[in-house]
Amino acid sequence: MLSKREIAFLNESNKIENLGMLRYSVESKNGHAQAWIQVREKAVQRERLELEDICNSQRYLMEEQASVGEDVEERLWGALRSPENRIGVRVGQYHAPSFVEVPILMERYIAQLHAELEHPQERHIDFAARAHRNFETIHPFADGNGRTGRLIANYVLLYADLPPLVFTAADRRKYYDACKTVGAMQAYFREKMQESAVCLSCDDDFVPLKRRATAGAEYDCKTCDAHFTLDWDKIFEEGYPLNP
Ligand SMILES: [Zn+2]
Repeated sequence: MLSKREIAFLNESNKIENLGMLRYSVESKNGHAQAWIQVREKAVQRERLELEDICNSQRYLMEEQASVGEDVEERLWGALRSPENRIGVRVGQYHAPSFVEVPILMERYIAQLHAELEHPQERHIDFAARAHRNFETIHPFADGNGRTGRLIANYVLLYADLPPLVFTAADRRKYYDACKTVGAMQAYFREKMQESAVCLSCDDDFVPLKRRATAGAEYDCKTCDAHFTLDWDKIFEEGYPLNP
């Protein structure tokens, strides 16, 4: 089962890549939805997300993408760029590291991911942004790097008791700009996280921001009429009070 927020996350994540024809519902369990459900399970159980899991996620995305005619060579499904898969990647002006370096960079990436999750050195939201931005910098796959990297960001957030972030297509320019530095990505994550809240009275998981107050952010839940203010600084430090 997918929540409202998770459905928005998956739909928007596709839309950022011009794959808006792929859409999900509460019952979806294939392709991108399958990838997220598996990653989510790992986060909730506080299990390690291994390189194999990340490769599997990308493979589900590629399979699903092929079903709507956006084919990627099948040998590249679930496969890192590597000396066996000699593919260079350029995103705008940015040249990703050579395929020669990708396997070792990813090994190091996974080690750093779990070192931080097990012994946090910075706020969870900031690390989620750092992990996402670093993954995009490596660009380990021929395709699906954006969507896979956003799955990893939400793995980190959920692992730290924060709700998944919805990366929206409407402001993708801002998001792409944020990929340039860790600091910009961290600012982007904080801003996006505050756009919608989870209502603890009725469990509506997508309550939009009403207005920004000086002390916190205010929300009106349309489902149960609750009004609430959240102290995001505290939430970023301690996690979301989903299980008070
Ligand atoms: Zn509510």
